[in-house]
Amino acid sequence: MGLLDLFRKQPQISYDNLPFPIQNQLQTNPYFNKYTNETIDTTVYLLYCDFANCYRWIKDATAPDKYFENYIRAIQLLIELNRYTTKFKFKQPTPYQQLNELNEKYTDNTNQFISRYWENTLKSIEKLKTEKGKTKKKEKFFNTLFNDYFEYLTQDNINFLNSIKEDKYISPEPQPTKVVCGKYNVDTVQEIQQIPINDYSVLRLLQKSATEHKRNGNFDLAIECLRKSNRISDMSKDITHKLTEKEYMRLYDFIKKYIPEQADFEYNQIKKLHPEFFDKRISSKENILSTISKAKEWNYDTIELFTKPSCTICGKYNKKIFSISGKHKKYPKLPIEFIRDGGFCSDHSIQSGVFFEGISTPPK
Ligand SMILES: [Zn+2]
Repeated sequence: MGLLDLFRKQPQISYDNLPFPIQNQLQTNPYFNKYTNETIDTTVYLLYCDFANCYRWIKDATAPDKYFENYIRAIQLLIELNRYTTKFKFKQPTPYQQLNELNEKYTDNTNQFISRYWENTLKSIEKLKTEKGKTKKKEKFFNTLFNDYFEYLTQDNINFLNSIKEDKYISPEPQPTKVVCGKYNVDTVQEIQQIPINDYSVLRLLQKSATEHKRNGNFDLAIECLRKSNRISDMSKDITHKLTEKEYMRLYDFIKKYIPEQADFEYNQIKKLHPEFFDKRISSKENILSTISKAKEWNYDTIELFTKPSCTICGKYNKKIFSISGKHKKYPKLPIEFIRDGGFCSDHSIQSGVFFEGISTPPK
């Protein structure tokens, strides 16, 4: 970024696409300096959290108050975020880009909302027994939009509503939603596969993209994102670039749910690659051996084990102290199973530490 870019002014945003009452409500902004006591990073983070909350409703709301209220709030939040453009390096899409999108797509988004609201109304009509009740429900739909929210509708929205009224309802084409993951587009399987498996910067972003794809009903893309995330994690030798077991297993959970016929295969693959997820003794053994080597280095003969206290198999070893050599007067020899197999329990991992006699307090 050049010096000039720092002073570059964002072009003004035009709100002409938006109906007048919405433009009017944008004259004031409840989010203006809402988080003034925070650092810029925290402020941006908190504003984005608020924004994500509102944005969700734009895509999901089936009631007009929720939809329009959150649409306005989302714009207000982006206007506030946009004020930090010179102080904070936003990733794409920037608040400015998102603002433009919400402005330009107001009619489309609102048609999508009307469609959800209508389908939701039809569903509740189905459950009603009397014709009178059904007619009332229908009337309520049109009255609410034509009376209470008329000013919030564009001409195109009104035309769409009229077509519903004349029984010419056609569900609008769902808009292809762009899902971005860092600097990559992840809207096709191919795009996801092309992400290099050593780009650790997207390890967790891919998990987020998977959630977004899931929300849009694109389960194949969600699965592909999780698969890529797992591959990147497997490539990494650095613990900070590894997924947790729970994150890693999301792929299996998704496959089980959406392509169950592949679930067994996936399960075996993961078991082969990560036996430690299924048998905790593998990581327990690593932990105990590393403690023993530390103890030897520091000339101590005693180690303490920490297990799951409530477990009937490993619980009795919790906070117990053992002698490595078996020559200690006070503490028994560490059973060979801990060194050889990582203990007796495959469900719980064991933690351990060098027990410094005279310094560590022995447990009662
Ligand atoms: Zn156990």
